[in-house]
Amino acid sequence: METNNLSYWETTNFYNSDVLIVGSGIVGLNAAIAIKSMAPKLAVTILDRGFLPSGASTKNAGFACFGSISELIEQEKTAGTDGLFQLIEKRWMGLQKLRDIAGDQNLAFENNGGFELFTSEQQPLQQECVSKIGHYNQILKEITGTANVYRPIKNSSNRFGFNGITGMISNSLEGQLDPGKMIKTLIAKATSLGAVILNSCEVRSFKTEQQRVIVQTSQGTFGAKKMLCCTNAFANQLFPKIDLKPGRGQVLITKPIEGLKLKGTFHYDKGYYYFRNVGNRVLLGGGRNLDFFTEQTHQFGETPLVQHTLLRLLKDVILPSTPFEIEQKWSGIMAFGPQLTPIIEEVEPNVFCAVRCNGMGIAIGSQTGQEAGEMVASSL
Ligand SMILES: Cc1cc2nc3c(=O)[nH]c(=O)nc-3n(C[C@H](O)[C@H](O)[C@H](O)COP(=O)(O)OP(=O)(O)OC[C@H]3O[C@@H](n4cnc5c(N)ncnc54)[C@H](O)[C@@H]3O)c2cc1C
Repeated sequence: METNNLSYWETTNFYNSDVLIVGSGIVGLNAAIAIKSMAPKLAVTILDRGFLPSGASTKNAGFACFGSISELIEQEKTAGTDGLFQLIEKRWMGLQKLRDIAGDQNLAFENNGGFELFTSEQQPLQQECVSKIGHYNQILKEITGTANVYRPIKNSSNRFGFNGITGMISNSLEGQLDPGKMIKTLIAKATSLGAVILNSCEVRSFKTEQQRVIVQTSQGTFGAKKMLCCTNAFANQLFPKIDLKPGRGQVLITKPIEGLKLKGTFHYDKGYYYFRNVGNRVLLGGGRNLDFFTEQTHQFGETPLVQHTLLRLLKDVILPSTPFEIEQKWSGIMAFGPQLTPIIEEVEPNVFCAVRCNGMGIAIGSQTGQEAGEMVASSL
């Protein structure tokens, strides 16, 4: 596009808004929906550097989850029991909010249950997790009203055809969805409320000037009263001091497998590996822990180490007696930090951010976007 040949109409209608949101992932879209719902007359524009949203929201595994027991044990050590209660509540409420906004059918939401898997070498971990089931079921009962959400399962390998899995804990409230459908629906909702989404437009820098934020992009200069940055893992490219680190997740999916036994969402090795059925395909991701240093990157891509390990896991454990072929591989970038809560704040006058979903954006993205949107709208 010729940015030096902009018409007056283009400049006034597209390049100037009340609120400029950077990033059209789950957080940015929910922020736009919240702002337009609260204040329909505000002009809201979302810029995304990707042709499609290009971070994590359309590249994830689609687990609608709030934590496996081994994850909760680790998180309780960091957040304390009260802090963990609040975290689980936020995730649960966030999932309900997403389902309310988008609708289960539009999300292809299915509640097939979640399962944490243990091998014989992980017996001590399994015993610790089983011993905590009562404690976490009590918390989940208070939050969701459902009793006995987590249960130990016997003879687990036979049910799904796994090899080497000696123990399992099920989670009756864990679901799965299609992240592509989720973002398509949120885009439709945001635009139906009047938000404008402009793609292939990278924000390169910004400055604040006389109550306005002036934003330099690959498509010219935009102006707004407020800017809200929802760029998650990429936030430190615009705010170098922000407390988060990127973490790449590599994912693969098989071609359809006739008679596939596996159904649901599965957590393996303390959640460092995750897999699920997508119809009669298997989607598998993870392995960041094999090389945290290399995977702490903003670059999309695959590495032989992670890919080889994912393939071995498929062959040896998940589909030991079923031939399969890989259909597609990809990666996405998450944001992690020392605290498990997202950063939702005014970073400097008129400039806000809502970032650091800690790999759980399906659960907390809607709530995070809404909180940030309300913060921005009420500042106008
Ligand atoms: C492989 C993988 C598996 C995952 N699995 C799950 C799961 O099963 N369940 C779950 O709850 N969560 C999962 N997550 C995490 C979840 O996807 C994220 O937490 C969530 O999508 C973050 O949403 P977001 O809107 O904050 O960021 P993103 O979706 O990353 O959106 C940020 C957007 O900002 C844009 N952007 C960045 N910089 C700029 C710039 N300078 N100018 C313009 N635009 C910019 C990007 O293009 C991007 O579209 C997974 C993530 C990955 C990578």
